[in-house]
Amino acid sequence: MDYINQATAYLNLQWSSVLHLFGNEKKNVFVIGTSLVLFLSFCAVNSFFMFLDFTGKPKFLHKYKIQKDKNIPVEPARFLHCCKVAFRNELLSCGMVLFLYPVMQCTGMTCQAPLPPIWEGFLHFVAFVLVDEFIFYYSHRLFHHPFIYKHIHKMHHEWIAPISIAASYAHPIEHIVSNALPLLVGPILMGSHIAVVWIWLVIAQFETCLHHCNYHFPVMSSPQFHDYHHVK
Ligand SMILES: [Zn+2]
Ligand SMILES: [Zn+2]
Repeated sequence: MDYINQATAYLNLQWSSVLHLFGNEKKNVFVIGTSLVLFLSFCAVNSFFMFLDFTGKPKFLHKYKIQKDKNIPVEPARFLHCCKVAFRNELLSCGMVLFLYPVMQCTGMTCQAPLPPIWEGFLHFVAFVLVDEFIFYYSHRLFHHPFIYKHIHKMHHEWIAPISIAASYAHPIEHIVSNALPLLVGPILMGSHIAVVWIWLVIAQFETCLHHCNYHFPVMSSPQFHDYHHVK
């Protein structure tokens, strides 16, 4: 029990330092902090796969590739275009955070110390996953409607054999509705603590990139389901 109390006190101390870093300003923590978390986690998750996709090295990892003969390495011009679109979309996500900040305030989202208890964070996580799945599933179905598909979602499906950074290769409308909003609506509805939201965003970014990476490494969840969606 003592050990748990010590760990909690340590985490709260670290969180106070984070708040201090942002001048103890709620708007800075929410907008700048969340944008940094989104952007840095996107870069961190993708940097390994970007190197692998661009250089085709190290070769011993090729045996884990799902569509064996595709994009090893990716054609440079296509790769750079994909990166450009993906980073533009990540900036859009940051813009969404700024745009939604007043709504976040209304629903009681907070950044104050102390951090919420673990059980509360866990319950919020469950809600985030459910809301994310619901909005992503129905918006994705909508984007596959023949009248909408060719104008918006077709762009994401240009990648029949996707790469991790192609997770964010999408029309800006699709990126806002199907990628950014599903991640943010859960925390807004639950009035969550921003520290819980940051952990959620890092995990969600990791999962999305993994679903598109086209590699099935041992002990990692299989991206074959979404890969099949891109093939078909
Ligand atoms: Zn689709
Ligand atoms: Zn996809």
